[in-house]
Amino acid sequence: MQIAIDGPAGSGKTSIAKALAEKLGFIHLDTGAMFRALSVILSEEGVRDEKCIEERIRGLELRMIPQGVEIEGRELTDELRTEEIDREVSYYSQLRTVRDWLLFKQRQMADQQDVIMDGRDIATVVLPRAEVKIFLDASEDVRAMRRTLQSGRLDDYPEILADIQRRDQVDSQREIAPLKVAEDAMLIDTTEMSFDEVLETILRLVEEKR
Ligand code: C5P
Repeated sequence: MQIAIDGPAGSGKTSIAKALAEKLGFIHLDTGAMFRALSVILSEEGVRDEKCIEERIRGLELRMIPQGVEIEGRELTDELRTEEIDREVSYYSQLRTVRDWLLFKQRQMADQQDVIMDGRDIATVVLPRAEVKIFLDASEDVRAMRRTLQSGRLDDYPEILADIQRRDQVDSQREIAPLKVAEDAMLIDTTEMSFDEVLETILRLVEEKR
């Protein structure tokens, strides 16, 4: 079975996907972490031109590990979620070369196993035949506040809100695989829902489809 979870920045996709995977015994693939891992390598090396990116990523080894992503034998964990990578990732993720390369990997990883994948284009592009498709949303303020509470730095709220707004705009307006609700997805607005309520709602849907 394939479960696709999409949604804007800070909608709780990754935490929900992780909890669901544990409950159901599925593997969880956080595609945002994959885009972030490539962005770490490419931005560190200052590789920005699409031709150069294509050469650099050809044959690159990338695999998911419980704490993050292993790329070229290097384990990336905290490096994936810095403010710099929050900024860089939207540049790299709109490039055809980067998206095609990751699309191939993502489909390969999802092949022949029960999987929950979270991202922006999972239901629309990566796994269009997923049996369960969810689009998680919440108001900007609530998403920014949840992220702020997670970071433990209340003063960072304005910057976190601005980052969420900027990324949502770039992600939903890019030409290739933009963030959007798939026609056959269930939209869940979590603004006034608790984590457990969201989890229960999705679990019920999974049970119905099984
Ligand atoms: O999910 P997360 O916020 O970690 O994703 C980081 C960025 O990676 C997004 O803002 C988006 O630009 C990109 N991304 C994407 N497609 C996906 C997952 C993430 O373009 N399926």
